[in-house]
Amino acid sequence: MKRLVLASGNPGKLRELSVILADLGYELHAQSEFGVPEVAETGTTFVENAIIKARHAAELTGLPALADDSGIEVDALHGAPGVYSARFSGADADDAANNALLVEKLRQLPAAERGARYRTVIVLMRHATDPSPLICEGSWQGIIQLEPAGEGGFGYDPHFFLPDMGCTSAQLSGADKNRLSHRGKALAVLKHRLQRQSV
Ligand code: IMP
Repeated sequence: MKRLVLASGNPGKLRELSVILADLGYELHAQSEFGVPEVAETGTTFVENAIIKARHAAELTGLPALADDSGIEVDALHGAPGVYSARFSGADADDAANNALLVEKLRQLPAAERGARYRTVIVLMRHATDPSPLICEGSWQGIIQLEPAGEGGFGYDPHFFLPDMGCTSAQLSGADKNRLSHRGKALAVLKHRLQRQSV
């Protein structure tokens, strides 16, 4: 098994990615196993932030590193909150405060002008100075719904309405969300690329 380090402290992401990567002959380790601290996400794009995180983990461990960065882009807000999705309403933001601010900003607009998409970028750097990281992207189109609905998911899911499904992403089962979501799509791209090109 080839070893990879994941530049994230999120146990859910480690579990999800480990399963996919084990099938491809990779053993995934959390960066915390090597004492790697989180790095400041100073980029203004998802790609920049994912590269910052992967490069940092590769530098400190000497292993190939994977990192992801996600968020929501709202058309009427020129793509905000984007990379600031987790901290939209401030440094101590939580999901409730972020959702309240989002609804507040869009309240006057009709549904047709509340288009949005989730995005995920997953980056794999073979080493810290890799000049051509593997970059895998996924997006998921929806409409911001003013009234929350659903108990599943996290973050903006209770307000992320999916016209094709007739419900919010918080109303989907976990399996359906993983299959349809930005993250699911980016993971499928990663899997496809690693099947053809080992690291
Ligand atoms: P992360 O980069 O995966 O940690 O995501 C950053 C932020 O984007 C999260 O804290 C959420 O606010 C938002 N986000 C990303 N993916 C999702 C999702 O699938 N549902 C809801 N919110 C999400």
